[in-house]
Formats: sequence, C-alpha cells, structure tokens
Amino acid sequence: MESLFEVLRTKLKEKGYKLTTQRRVIYDVFVENTGSHLSPEEVYDMVKDKYPEVGLATVYRTLQLLDELEVVRKINFNDGCNRYELNTNTNDHQHHHLICLECGEVFEVEIDLLDNLEEKIENESKFKIVDHNVKFFGYCESCNEKRS
Ligand SMILES: [Zn+2]
Ligand SMILES: [Zn+2]
Ligand SMILES: [Zn+2]
Repeated sequence: MESLFEVLRTKLKEKGYKLTTQRRVIYDVFVENTGSHLSPEEVYDMVKDKYPEVGLATVYRTLQLLDELEVVRKINFNDGCNRYELNTNTNDHQHHHLICLECGEVFEVEIDLLDNLEEKIENESKFKIVDHNVKFFGYCESCNEKRS
C-alpha cells in the first residue's frame, strides 16, 4: 500500500510541482492530526515554531494547492473560515459532519443513508446526482447538557 506521503509525492510530480519542505511540513500536520478539521491559522500555529520561514500566506497558498491535488479537502463549516481535512481516499465519498453551534466542534458521522434519497430526488426531479455533501448543525453532548 502506498503511504500517504507517497501519495503526496506522486500527485505533486504528476502536476509538475516540486516537493518542497513547506509543502511537506504542512501536509504532515494533516497526517499527524487525521480526523481534524483545521483552519489555515491553526495550521500556521502548528508549524511556525519549528519552521519560522513558513508564513501565513504560504500556508494559504499551500493549502489551496493541496486541495487542488485532492490530498486535502476544503470544507466550509459556515463559521467564517475555510477548514481543511486530510483526504485519505480520493475516490471515496466524503463523510458528513456534525457542527456544534455552541463550541464550534466538528464531529464526523459515518452513517450515510442518503443513497436512497438521491435516487428519490433523481426520479422526481430528473436531475442526475453525482455527489452530496451534508452538514448537520446542532449542539454537542456537553453543550447540550449545559443548555438544559
Ligand atoms: Zn459543543
Ligand atoms: Zn471530516
Ligand atoms: Zn453521504
């Protein structure tokens, strides 16, 4: 099996990009924090101590590139900033997210019963669906406890 790092190297090469330290360092943040949904600022905070030469603008640019290469995915959680997560399987359908309106925490849901819904919509609207992307907004367990 190809390691995640090999995937990055192959993808960069395919598109004629070099594997620079900056690209590698930023990608590593995602590999080390699999399952996290990180904003560019958070990524910057994690690399700036060890790699002071990596500025916030570089982080933005690199994330954009990694998103184009489909090694990370950009997600908008309606909280005013774009976040990115590691894309471990480029062919796979993206899991869905639960977003807490109180603390902003993002949880991943593996349950996906939407294929039936897609079929229904296709039949009714004559619209060919190729993918869907769902966010659920609400309150996480601990925030919900505090509310009641
Ligand atoms: Zn919460
Ligand atoms: Zn996610
Ligand atoms: Zn789905």
